Amino acid sequence: MSLPYAGTSKKMKTDRRKFLKSLAGLSGLAASAVPGLSSAAIAAAQVQDIRLSKNKGYVRLVFDLDGIADHSIFALKDPNRIVLDIKKAKMPHGMVDRLQANSLIRSVRSGVRNGNDLRVVFDLSKEVKPRSFLLAPSAQSGHRLVIDLHDKRIPTNVTKSKKRDVIIAIDAGHGGRDPGATGRSGTHEKIITLQIAKRLEKDINAQRGMKAVLIRKNDRYMRLRDRIHKARDARADMMISLHADSFPDPRARGSSIYALSVDGASSETARMLAEKENAADLLFGDVNLAVEDQMVKEVLFDLSLTGTIESSLDIGSEILGQLKAVNRVHKKKVQQAGFAVLKAPNIPSVLLETAFISNPREERNLRSSSHQKKVSKAITRGVSKYFSRKAPPGTWLASSECEYEVCNNDTVASISQQHNVIESDLRARNGLYADNLLAGQVIKIPVS
Ligand SMILES: [Zn+2]
Repeated sequence: MSLPYAGTSKKMKTDRRKFLKSLAGLSGLAASAVPGLSSAAIAAAQVQDIRLSKNKGYVRLVFDLDGIADHSIFALKDPNRIVLDIKKAKMPHGMVDRLQANSLIRSVRSGVRNGNDLRVVFDLSKEVKPRSFLLAPSAQSGHRLVIDLHDKRIPTNVTKSKKRDVIIAIDAGHGGRDPGATGRSGTHEKIITLQIAKRLEKDINAQRGMKAVLIRKNDRYMRLRDRIHKARDARADMMISLHADSFPDPRARGSSIYALSVDGASSETARMLAEKENAADLLFGDVNLAVEDQMVKEVLFDLSLTGTIESSLDIGSEILGQLKAVNRVHKKKVQQAGFAVLKAPNIPSVLLETAFISNPREERNLRSSSHQKKVSKAITRGVSKYFSRKAPPGTWLASSECEYEVCNNDTVASISQQHNVIESDLRARNGLYADNLLAGQVIKIPVS
């Protein structure tokens, strides 16, 4: 095989003999060869430019081509290098010299292989995992061959199997002898909350890295304190309590979200609502709840809650942000109130008043399965967005193989493909629900 070199540095020339030697034993060492297109159908391509960019955890090389090309890439050890073959391709003499040496790439050489194929060899300072893909022409660019050289980290199966799911406790408000509020058409709050809770359970469980736990699965009465205990026993990372609002004026409408407040209610409405939701428990449940707690206990309790409240407000805002697309939002911010059900120390909790059951139109919505689906999806997105940022350590959602900086023409699909991950996993890990990615945005690549 003849390999006239276009590389210029002295080091490259001395390396040439070594390189030729290594090629002799190449076949057994080939790794990461990317299957390409049928070469018979492809016309000769010309490399018009080579660009290099450094990103977190990898270096990206972009070959601008004047047409599609069939390529393969593989890594070699001792010394570490990457060999890129592009079939029926040509590159102007000296073009590789445009790539300046950096901490990863020590030198670059190029040559002709099999008479009309192009071979480019990158001498590297360390072992990398190469990934490559072709990009079709866009408004700004033509055909591109993209090579990503990722820092090689050896994943161990032990750490993989240890990753747990984030646990979401779903509490359907009221139940059994406590029907909650009742709409003008006779809809009971307890029925609606259970229906939405069951939909939410399915949607949460469909998300990679999250697991739902229903606090009540059927129409039965549960004390607030038992709800909290159940969430704690399930080791929940958060709890969402589902309710439907009611108000004497049937025009009142919209969704609201509440988080616990230390000093009590943040608005008069919140205070009244808390009294109303808590009253059920005083009527039907554990009447000793209040007298049992002494002042010191309460202070300690509240202190342990402050961190959790921050998280609760954060989760609440994410859910509220998603609900805006589904329903009118009654209060633009997450409200704070002293609901007993939210008083689960160390479990961030939010209470969602999905809509006003006392408003005839919203009552119809609450009963409609399509509206319930929308609400459930919105909550799931909000929860997912929060945990993609703030997942507890040791969970799948907290772990990433590497970080990737989005380039101009990237899509969720192209990034999933190039990193060999499932698209829905990439979305779950990043709380990505829109398709428009921003160049420069950092995406976490999930562990498999
Ligand atoms: Zn309620």
